[in-house]
Amino acid sequence: MPDQGGNCMRCGACCATYPVLFAPEELDSRPGGWVPTALTETIYSRCVHMQGTAHSPRRCVALQGTVGEEVRCTIYGQRPSPCREFAAEADAGHGDARCADARRLHGLPPLKGSYDAFPIG
Ligand code: SF4
Ligand code: SF4
Repeated sequence: MPDQGGNCMRCGACCATYPVLFAPEELDSRPGGWVPTALTETIYSRCVHMQGTAHSPRRCVALQGTVGEEVRCTIYGQRPSPCREFAAEADAGHGDARCADARRLHGLPPLKGSYDAFPIG
């Protein structure tokens, strides 16, 4: 979820679809880190997951609300780098293939501007 504004606040699909994996250096238990360690789990030795995203059905522990209706990332300012980099133009209405796939999985149409967007219904 790159956007704490319109599109993503009514979506949240990516946060309930993909593994959210990142380097342990981003954990707040490390010097200079910022992601709340208590909300993560370590499955592999060189990276950590946000809890809830390692196995299907996925839903990040930090996601609040109902996907496709109203959601919020409860650690928005402390979210890990994959969340910051994901579909970075979604707030401007431009999704990408992964954003579109996540939305489709949750019964939502791709954002206008998704390069693989196709009409639904
Ligand atoms: S799937 Fe796309 S529109 Fe939905 S929250 Fe993620 S980036 Fe935003
Ligand atoms: S940390 Fe926030 S933005 Fe990242 S997957 Fe979880 S709820 Fe979504």
